[in-house]
Amino acid sequence: MIVARNHGALGVAMWCAAAWLIPRGASAQVTAPLSFGVKSTATVPLIPEATGEALANELSGSAAKRNLEYITRLHRMRASKGFRTAADFVAARARDYGLTDVKVHEFPADGHTMYGTQKARLGWDPDFAELWEVRVDSGRTTPVTRIASFEDEPVILAEDSDSADVTAEVVDVGVGGTDHDYAGKNVRGKLVLLSGPPTDAAALAIDKYGAKGMLSDMPNQVTAWWKEDGNLIRWGHLDAFEARHTFAFMLSQKQAGAMRARLASGEHITLHAIVKAARHPSSYNPVTALIPGTDLRSEEIVLSCHLDHQRPGANDNASGCATILEVGRTISKLIADGKIARPSRSIRFVWPCEVECTMVLFNAEPEMRARFKAVIHMDMVGGAPVTKAVFHVNVSPLSLPTFVNDVGHVFGAFVSDESEAYAEGNGGKYPLVSGEGGKEPLQADLGEFNMGSDNELYTEGSYRIPAIYLSDWPDRYIHTNLDTPANIDATKLQRAAFIGAASVLFLANMKSSDVPALWLTMQSAALHRSATMLERRARLTPAEATTYTREYLAQERAAFESIAGFAAISDSTRRGADAFFGKLGETIGVSAVPSPAKTSPLYARNPAVSGPTIVFGYDYLLEHLHGAAPPRLLSFTGARGTGADYAYEVLNFVNGKRGAQEIRDKVSAEFGPVSIELVTEYLRALETAGMVTSSK
Ligand SMILES: [Zn+2]
Repeated sequence: MIVARNHGALGVAMWCAAAWLIPRGASAQVTAPLSFGVKSTATVPLIPEATGEALANELSGSAAKRNLEYITRLHRMRASKGFRTAADFVAARARDYGLTDVKVHEFPADGHTMYGTQKARLGWDPDFAELWEVRVDSGRTTPVTRIASFEDEPVILAEDSDSADVTAEVVDVGVGGTDHDYAGKNVRGKLVLLSGPPTDAAALAIDKYGAKGMLSDMPNQVTAWWKEDGNLIRWGHLDAFEARHTFAFMLSQKQAGAMRARLASGEHITLHAIVKAARHPSSYNPVTALIPGTDLRSEEIVLSCHLDHQRPGANDNASGCATILEVGRTISKLIADGKIARPSRSIRFVWPCEVECTMVLFNAEPEMRARFKAVIHMDMVGGAPVTKAVFHVNVSPLSLPTFVNDVGHVFGAFVSDESEAYAEGNGGKYPLVSGEGGKEPLQADLGEFNMGSDNELYTEGSYRIPAIYLSDWPDRYIHTNLDTPANIDATKLQRAAFIGAASVLFLANMKSSDVPALWLTMQSAALHRSATMLERRARLTPAEATTYTREYLAQERAAFESIAGFAAISDSTRRGADAFFGKLGETIGVSAVPSPAKTSPLYARNPAVSGPTIVFGYDYLLEHLHGAAPPRLLSFTGARGTGADYAYEVLNFVNGKRGAQEIRDKVSAEFGPVSIELVTEYLRALETAGMVTSSK
């Protein structure tokens, strides 16, 4: 995503680099910036300095990391014993820290209950799994080498594997996802070795060709580094809703490569696979807790994460869970110590299983969800340099214009600048360094909307809760056995906690008198975005450029208007905004922009179906198209978005007042031009699936 950060110290660093490149003689014309070498005297934006200081003194990356270490000892599958243990731990900690209304919820995970567009999966509890190479001599089987053990590394067993006890030869079937992979090979009664995902191979390998089970070293979350450590074992899955009973062991590339080489040389390899695991009716156990507000208790600002995933799952996502817990500890203690005032709005904490538990909570606790005004979601916020992580502060999609985005960015830029000044030896009043952590600058990427976690449920058109989304990407160890606490930087946890705490306190306290300062930061951010918009617009046809300009200005104006949902906008601020947007329009060419095209039919959401088309392990749209081909928009790629991005936003722009053309214009402004045909076809598919209705 595109960076639109406030360049403070970085601007100086770039200037220094540029000066070295200027030939002698010319350098005399370059004037040194006045700020060069000046110690940082930064003041915390938007919140009182005393609050910033109190947060900086209390927040502890080490305390967060200790909680993270406990969570990473558990194999945290949705609706499993491991998840429940993690949930009970988080709940106990939250109570210790003085949070109230702490609750471990119980909702059916029964394989059929619908929570909006999320069909409940069954719980899955693995107890034991081992894979042995064995020698068979005249009917006698002798164990030779243990290849994989659940006790050792639970990630070796693909999620939703079922019990089995099989001794059989192994056959290499390549990727394993097409008939071609099985041509000329007899896999009946045997084990197949795949380089692709077991989910994609099961129908062929097990149902059609009669194999007894699968082994795989498939990539999961490919990054530039994914082939560089052959010892990584990647988290694998089967389809939770399939009636078939089978299993898959996940191997490292080294293990699978050695096996392939032996098979290719004509060797026969016999394995003994033992699995004790089952899908069964269980409970989803998201945890919630509260710091009650003083007078606006019907409004809650949320701190969210996801507590599930394979052991250890340190960055993904014990890091986000431990960090919001640390924010809770800190704010609760500072209130108790009288160092900060209790906020007027309440602060809600949510530790769900990813996506599905958030959908469960939204739909099973609609009164709670109705109080949610904004969310700060954390998913992977502690990756040390070894993980190759880049830290992002992402925001809400264009279908949900909101000032909340700029609140996240302003604190992200502040921590970046302060930590950079500190790293460069120029002081920095807020280095936010943990005693056991690194000293590197944060260098947060202040990005745009990005899908990929529970944030996309909050901002979904059915719920419309503005989101700030803190996350690392890439991470070379994601979804592997080496996503360990050793790779977690306590300093980074502390800094993510500061961004989260400062954002949540500003939003929970926000009132009319905060609007002028907020509006000032929004103008600065709007000018950054305008520069980006002009760059992007230069690559468009005149017609697309016109549409883009119109949508861009409407977006900025709507973000300003969103302030009124939190605090009254004074007449003088409104007059200032009118003047600002008038000037901005003149500068970027608004006079040439006609009003939006009106088309019919108009599309409206079916209120009975809430949530996005695709959720965790379940595709509502495809299931409700009853075998029809997936709409082509899903495989489209635009200038700044994938088919999934476009599809998500097309549905979000449906509001009963827009036709296909207006919706096309808006997604085109967001991700780059897309044809009206693809958007119309997609809207019709949504109508066929009963998610939207159309009216002339
Ligand atoms: Zn995650």
